[in-house]
Amino acid sequence: MQTNFTAEQLADPHVAEAEQILRKCVHCGFCTATCPTYVTLGNELDSPRGRIYLIKDMLENGRPADEQIVRHIDRCLSCLACMTTCPSGVDYMHLVDHARIHIEKTYRRPFMNRLTRGVLAMVLPYPARFRFALTLARIGRPFAGLLNRVPQLKPFGAMLELAPRALPAKATSFAATAPAASEPKRGRVAILAGCAQPVLDPGINEATVRLLTRIGVEVVVPEGEGCCGALVHHMGREEQALDFARRNVDAWTREIERGGLDAIIITASGCGTTIKDYGHMLRLDPAYAEKAARVSALAKDVTEYLSTLELPRLEAKGMVVAYHSACSLQHGQRVTMAPKTLLANAGFTVREPAEGHLCCGSAGTYNILQSEISEKLKARKVKNLAATKPQVIAAGNIGCMTQIGSGTELPVVHTVELLDWAYGGERPRKLAKS
Ligand code: SF4
Ligand code: SF4
Repeated sequence: MQTNFTAEQLADPHVAEAEQILRKCVHCGFCTATCPTYVTLGNELDSPRGRIYLIKDMLENGRPADEQIVRHIDRCLSCLACMTTCPSGVDYMHLVDHARIHIEKTYRRPFMNRLTRGVLAMVLPYPARFRFALTLARIGRPFAGLLNRVPQLKPFGAMLELAPRALPAKATSFAATAPAASEPKRGRVAILAGCAQPVLDPGINEATVRLLTRIGVEVVVPEGEGCCGALVHHMGREEQALDFARRNVDAWTREIERGGLDAIIITASGCGTTIKDYGHMLRLDPAYAEKAARVSALAKDVTEYLSTLELPRLEAKGMVVAYHSACSLQHGQRVTMAPKTLLANAGFTVREPAEGHLCCGSAGTYNILQSEISEKLKARKVKNLAATKPQVIAAGNIGCMTQIGSGTELPVVHTVELLDWAYGGERPRKLAKS
């Protein structure tokens, strides 16, 4: 694609990067076929190619964002299916990240939209606040239908509907209680405790720590780590996202220097995609660029790390698992085979749904801020998963688990919970009743 940026514009390294990305796009439109919003809405401006044109026009003309571009960029899930499809290697992720930052800086959103986004950014990344909000949401749940009838209040209705009916007990502090690794020792890793996941489902990290320590991997939770920053990063709140990133880079760097780390284990793939991008996010910060690149290189999805440990093959269990491949794992990190191979080797019968490349509509805060499109994608995903006739659905991202779980009676568990169970750990709580 031909571009017409001035030398002055290109002096800004962010614009220069955007220009390089834009130049790679050859308008072929292959990406439209796999874009969930184009497939759902059928509007070119809700396709990757359409958004790329809108972003080019905004940046080239040095214009502030307007209502039209905000509408179509807000509808993008950042699922990155377009990047997997694109034959020209267009780095849509960093382009849309840049567009979102530009929108945040130049566009004043309507009051209720600002309020909703502000509340999400102030609550979700902080476990204590999030837990308190979920407690309130349980009380407010009966009013969800009422809120859904007022367009400006829909996001609050969606929040109430997504809130779990019962909250699990508070997460264990692994820093104090992680068991010692069995002998012989096979490695030393840090685990990202995370923010929303330990509140919604502490069993995921508990299963991870149990499994890893049982097979000889020492697990540490470095003091000072917290939210990875993905939630605010996708809202264009760059300074807040970079603060989270720097804090985590500091925490993991201290741990690398203290005892060495073979990997930084992430059990929520949405977080994993962002942490693997810290090196890029902090590339212009001389105090952090090198440390952040080192952290990103160590970041591994839990299944990616487990597949390096050669776990033994187990006998078939006769349990059918529908594997939902989270977008952040399949498109963001290109981790596709490891979870399925691990489950199959552990004795599960793994089935994949039709349209596995399409997003379930969770996408961070998307199911709150764009609930109508999200509901359509959820229904499509649940139907495809149910058609495989599984006994359980497995996924590697808490956002997808919550989204899919709110649309089906089938138990939805994390891949690592099934693996822990198969290799001698506890039966996942959600399977206890089935
Ligand atoms: S990230 Fe997903 S929703 Fe956004 S343009 Fe690409 S395929 Fe479409
Ligand atoms: S597939 Fe790639 S090159 Fe083709 S229109 Fe989409 S982003 Fe551009």
